[in-house]
Amino acid sequence: MDIAKAIRTIPDYPKPGIQFRDITTLLGDARAFRITVDRMVQPWAGAKIDLVAGTEARGFILGGAVAHQLSSGFIPVRKKGKLPYHTIEERYELEYGEDAVEIHKDAVKEGDRVLMVDDLIATGGTAEATIKLLQRAGATVIGASFVIDLPDLGGAKRIEAMGVPVSSLVAFEGE
Ligand code: AMP
Repeated sequence: MDIAKAIRTIPDYPKPGIQFRDITTLLGDARAFRITVDRMVQPWAGAKIDLVAGTEARGFILGGAVAHQLSSGFIPVRKKGKLPYHTIEERYELEYGEDAVEIHKDAVKEGDRVLMVDDLIATGGTAEATIKLLQRAGATVIGASFVIDLPDLGGAKRIEAMGVPVSSLVAFEGE
């Protein structure tokens, strides 16, 4: 099955020149959703993953399903200010300004083997911040798994340069 066909593209959203890759159509298609999760899990089956870390918000949906299939725990990686207990944060640059991701300070134990999951990697800024945060918390980040890669933006290379292997299912040209 070609899961690229289950992904909807919205031109010029949220601003001109961006092709927004909308996975809600994929999530709403039972077969496409199952095959996507199966394929995301496949490279990491047998890798003894303790925890899957999913980045807000679409990473929660995919990461939860991947964690279930790997029999792992799940860590929600949230935007600043959303988590109720003591947190640690990692800031990252946006095109305009700055943002931060957070996890609870006790979300990871030293040496836990963690797989990071999100729907899409573009510049890799979000993934890099997420991985640095997990590593600072004591995790060994075993890999990062995405449905979609935008290779022209270089994110996957950036993450691999950190020594973290990347897997993705579909590549789209452009931004
Ligand atoms: P980046 O930090 O540049 O790798 O951006 C990744 C984050 O932004 C992911 O959480 C994506 O969900 C979102 N994102 C970036 N570009 C797109 C796009 N063209 N379509 C849909 N989501 C995107």
